[in-house]
Amino acid sequence: MYRTHTCGELRAENIGQQVTLSGWVQKTRELGGMTFVDLRDRYGLTQLVFDLSKNPELTELARDLGREYVIKVTGTVIERENKNKKLPTGEIEILASQLSVLNASETPPFTIEEESDGGDELRMKYRYLDLRRYPLQRNLELRHLMGIEVRNYLHQHKFFEIETPYLIKSTPEGARDFVVPSRMNPNQFYALPQSPQTFKQLLMVAGYDRYFQIVKCFRDEDLRADRQPEFTQIDCEMAFVERDDILDMFEGMTKHLFRKLKNIAFDYTFPRMPYDEAMEFYGSDKPDIRFDMKFNDLTSLVQGKGFVVFDQAEYIAGINATGCAAYSRKELDALTDFVKRPQIGAQGLVYVKYNEDGSFKSSVDKFFDETQLKTWAETMQAKPGDLLLILAGAKKQTQHALCELRLEMGERLGLRDKNTFAPLWVVDFPLLEWNDENQRFYAMHHPFTSPKPEDIALFDTDPGKIKANAYDLVINGVEIGGGSIRIHNRELQEQMFKVLGFTKEESEAQFGFLLNAFKFGAPPHGGVAFGFDRFVSLFAGLDSIRDVIAFPKNNSGRDVMIDSPSAIALEQLQELFLTLKKPE
Ligand code: ASP
Repeated sequence: MYRTHTCGELRAENIGQQVTLSGWVQKTRELGGMTFVDLRDRYGLTQLVFDLSKNPELTELARDLGREYVIKVTGTVIERENKNKKLPTGEIEILASQLSVLNASETPPFTIEEESDGGDELRMKYRYLDLRRYPLQRNLELRHLMGIEVRNYLHQHKFFEIETPYLIKSTPEGARDFVVPSRMNPNQFYALPQSPQTFKQLLMVAGYDRYFQIVKCFRDEDLRADRQPEFTQIDCEMAFVERDDILDMFEGMTKHLFRKLKNIAFDYTFPRMPYDEAMEFYGSDKPDIRFDMKFNDLTSLVQGKGFVVFDQAEYIAGINATGCAAYSRKELDALTDFVKRPQIGAQGLVYVKYNEDGSFKSSVDKFFDETQLKTWAETMQAKPGDLLLILAGAKKQTQHALCELRLEMGERLGLRDKNTFAPLWVVDFPLLEWNDENQRFYAMHHPFTSPKPEDIALFDTDPGKIKANAYDLVINGVEIGGGSIRIHNRELQEQMFKVLGFTKEESEAQFGFLLNAFKFGAPPHGGVAFGFDRFVSLFAGLDSIRDVIAFPKNNSGRDVMIDSPSAIALEQLQELFLTLKKPE
């Protein structure tokens, strides 16, 4: 028998018992004639003690144990002299009488403790060692529990978990597909699903009116911050529902998860904010509403006073950083450098200090007098002691830059506490997005999203103005999920493909199966998908999804542990009828 207990289990009430434990050696220490060993497993740490005077041979053996050796030890639970209050097992230790080394270990390349001394790449290469660390174990436990609670909730609400295939034909969700060559069908390829979108819709046609799946999705995108080429969604679809039925159901699920996993009860309905409002007041379709600091559009108020930067700008807006009037030159310069970063993209920053004594000091004193600055302050609901930060330029870029500045100020002012959660639904997204480069419309969500019924007439006149019956769940500035009511009518779906620039033949070739299914009694339906990794990392208080995935890829999409992607053998290529070209 390897163990009678785990390394996290023994307490004062076990004193006097004979026990056997197995685990990894975290640390050994010598003290007088005693050797102490911290033994670790998934469940905790237990201190072992070897007494040189009582058992010299065994103690010699213990002294030779290296870090990460796997051992089995038998001994008696005794009361610990120096109790460790921080450790659940800290009241006791095991006086060892038998020790066997089950497996030796090389010295690990980094320390396997709460905080490791290993760099990112190194820990990724030895992921199985990094995974021995408690922070990662806690993350994977949380992930496991969230999976269970999602299933509990959806099962209670009569959802079926149904698997859909991984080897499919491409689903356009806006990214590139990963493709898989088919040996049995030479020169033909499967695509890995970017999501099970069309399948879940077909399940609605098939009459399974409540479906979900915790499922892998694959997107061959450039890996901007915190994306993974394969990630997991909680994918859901319902039939015979309107938008609010879906929002209610999944708001319920979100609250269930908060209650069960974070012990947080929301006693209110999540706000539902139209996309236009989110853009106007936060410059983002995923606003962080843990704090206010809304945008104030100043365009008409400040133009025409001879300040060219303003006069030439399409859009001028500012935020009120309350209580920041005392910011020093240095702090203001730092903010100016921040907004000028290429990723942020502003040309410069205008500030107005509304001093405690009621006077004003601004970076545009040459162009605007106190009376004018006072009107700005009134418009922005500023009080003495506040600091106005203003950006000007093209509308889209300025909204983006001001959004980043707002988040930065929120951070500086301590308004973005990781333990405060502020969920909302963003609704009424535009259906289409115009792409100047390719001179065509793209679906903002995906091509199966239904327009708002009252906007359908705009297909012929002004498609860019059509609003979609689409929604996102946003928590703390992070998009946690999104979905829509779908088109379930063949003609409307064809109209949508047409606006997206598909010819009849192309849409038939790519989506004939769906269009066909729509001939056979497709019910009204809609759904949503949540980023499972992101949900877990939000709950874990992490900034990255990487630490909630057991075996993630690095920023170049590589698994550095198994060294993938990698070349394949010539025979494999031949079997697949593939020849390779040198990249240029
Ligand atoms: N398939 C969509 C996505 O992955 C979600 C949905 O519309 O249900 O974003």
